[in-house]
Amino acid sequence: MTANPIIAFVGLGNMGRPMVGRLSAAGAQVRAFDASTAAMEAIRTAGVPTAGSLSEALEGADVLITMLPAGRHVVSVCEEAYPRLGVGALHIDCSSIDIASAKAVHASAGARGLLSVDAPVSGGTGGAEAGTLTFMLGGEARAVEVARPILQPMAGRIVQCGEAAAGQAAKICNNMILGISMIGVCEAFALAEKLGLSHQALFDVASKSSGQCWSLTSYCPVPGPVPASPANNGYKPGFASALMAKDLGLSQAAADDAGVSTPMGALARSLYDHLVGEGGGDQDFSAMIEFLRAGGPARPGGAAR
Ligand code: NAD
Repeated sequence: MTANPIIAFVGLGNMGRPMVGRLSAAGAQVRAFDASTAAMEAIRTAGVPTAGSLSEALEGADVLITMLPAGRHVVSVCEEAYPRLGVGALHIDCSSIDIASAKAVHASAGARGLLSVDAPVSGGTGGAEAGTLTFMLGGEARAVEVARPILQPMAGRIVQCGEAAAGQAAKICNNMILGISMIGVCEAFALAEKLGLSHQALFDVASKSSGQCWSLTSYCPVPGPVPASPANNGYKPGFASALMAKDLGLSQAAADDAGVSTPMGALARSLYDHLVGEGGGDQDFSAMIEFLRAGGPARPGGAAR
C-alpha cells in the first residue's frame, strides 16, 4: 500500500458525505461515488472529487470504502467491485450490516487476495462532520494495521474488536442499547410534559443524574436543551428511524441465532417497526417522541392507548 493510496468511496448519504469530506480535506486521494444523482450533486458542491460510475471510481484504486444502507447493498457493490481491484487492495466496509453478509464479504475478499475489514461506526452525523467517529474493526491483524491510518482523519477512536465481523457484532450490540435508551428518554420527556415539568428542567436534572445517556445529552429528542440535535431541525436525520429499525432487526436476528433473551431489544424493534410502518422511516429516530405523544402503537385488539 502506498503512503497516499487512491480511495474509492461508495455511498455518500448522511454519513458517507461528511466522512469522505474529512478524508478529502486531510489530503487523501478520493474518488466519491453514489447511485443517487442528488448525493453526487451534493458532494460535487462540497468540492470532493467524484467518479461517474463505480468502475471509474475503482480504476487503479488501492482502497474501497463502502458506507451503504444494508448488507444486500454491500454484497452487490462488492460483487461488482472486487474483480476490478488488484491483489492486496483493501476493502473497508463502514456500513452497519448483518453478521452473515459481513462474513460473506470477508470470505469473498479473501478468495480474491484482497484485505478486508468491517469497520462500522458510532457517533452519528455530528461525529462524521467533526471527524470524531468511533470505528469498530473486525478482520485479520494485517488488514486492520493497513486500515488504521486510512481511517484516522475520520476517527476519534479506533477499536479493534476481533476477527471478521467482530466490528459488526459490537455495532449491533451498541445500537440495541441506543434504540432502547432513546425510547426511554422519549417516554420520560412525554411523561414530564404531562406532569408540567419543563424540558429544560428534566434535562438539567437527568443529564447530571443516573438517567444520563447519549440519547439524552447528545441527541435530546425535544428542541432546546441540545441545540444541535435533530429535534431542533424538524427531526431531519441524523440517523433515520428506518435505519434504527434495521439495526434492531439485526440485533434480534443475532440474538435469535445465539439463543439469547433480549426482551427490551425486541420491544424496541417492534416500536420502531410501528413508527416506520406509519410513515416515519425518513425522520430521525428521535422522532419516536412524536409517535409516543400520538399514542404509540395500537394495543392488541386495535385500541390505541
Ligand atoms: P443513507 O441512506 O443516508 O446513505 C446511503 C447512501 O448509499 C445513499 O446515498 C444511497 O444512494 C447510496 N447507495 C445505496 N446503494 C448504492 C449502490 N449500489 N451504489 C452506490 N451508492 C448506493 O444512510 P446513512 O445514514 O449514510 O447510513 C449509512 C450506513 O451507516 C448504514 O448502514 C447506517 O446504518 C450506518 N450508520 C448511520 C448513522 C447515522 O447517524 N446516519 C450512524 C452510524 C451508522
